[in-house]
Amino acid sequence: MTPLLQGKRVWITGASSGIGAATARTLAAAGASLVLSARRVERLEALAAELQAQGADIQLEPVDVSDRNAMAAVGERLAALPGGVDILINNAGTMPISPIISGRVDEWERMIDVNIKGVLYAIHAVYPGMAERKSGHIVNISSVASRVTFQSAGVYAGTKHAVRAISDTLRKEAIRFGVRVTDVQPGSVATELPDSIGHEKIRKAVKDNMYAEGSPILQPEDIAAAIFYAVTQPAHVDVSELLIRPLIQE
Ligand code: NDP
Repeated sequence: MTPLLQGKRVWITGASSGIGAATARTLAAAGASLVLSARRVERLEALAAELQAQGADIQLEPVDVSDRNAMAAVGERLAALPGGVDILINNAGTMPISPIISGRVDEWERMIDVNIKGVLYAIHAVYPGMAERKSGHIVNISSVASRVTFQSAGVYAGTKHAVRAISDTLRKEAIRFGVRVTDVQPGSVATELPDSIGHEKIRKAVKDNMYAEGSPILQPEDIAAAIFYAVTQPAHVDVSELLIRPLIQE
């Protein structure tokens, strides 16, 4: 049987760890050609070597998703590839959470730059080509924090609410171009994400509780499986949103 994603080119941002890396493994196993992006080049190279050894077609596009010009340049290179990009997994994100009273303005800006602007730059890099070809699929990774808020996560939740709002608007606009849009909303997943918390007390609280070693939260592969489901449905099916929580999360 032909692998389900044979002949599809998938661009994954934030592919150097966590959900992005797990998704790369899952989609490569299903025959997809991958373009992998993140800032940590050595991580991308190690993942590429692992997947190439299994016969996968991998291209690297290291980039900071918050760099508008660099993202536009990646977009031009991707548009020049035969057939362009079929599927975007818009996953890069950061979570330096803290109470608003602590006024960590640089971190607020970083979250807005990466989680909102970065998501928009990636969409802009591939969406015009998809619209022209009348086919494509954009999968944005927001969060359960796109629906609910948590103390200390005001700005993070704000960025993820924005991603969900952008996803739903894009979905409505993209119908006429035959482009599908999916918003994936993970609950707590065991990844390096809490390492991005600069506020020491909050980082410790997060890492000692929900994200503690051995805590029965989601694994990156659980989200990769949800993404795989969304991108392997028949062309007339649009999986608009997927909310996935670990059983222990309220
Ligand atoms: P990780 O920290 O493991 O992965 C984050 C990825 O984003 C890394 O590959 C990182 O690569 C990349 N990244 C961060 N900043 C930038 C940047 N400026 N430019 C390019 N790439 C960047 O965490 P997760 O896998 O958990 O996170 C993936 C997504 O899932 C995020 O959007 C996150 O908000 C979301 N999410 C995660 C949850 C969780 O509990 N883990 C829950 C809900 C949503 P590099 O540092 O090499 O650039």
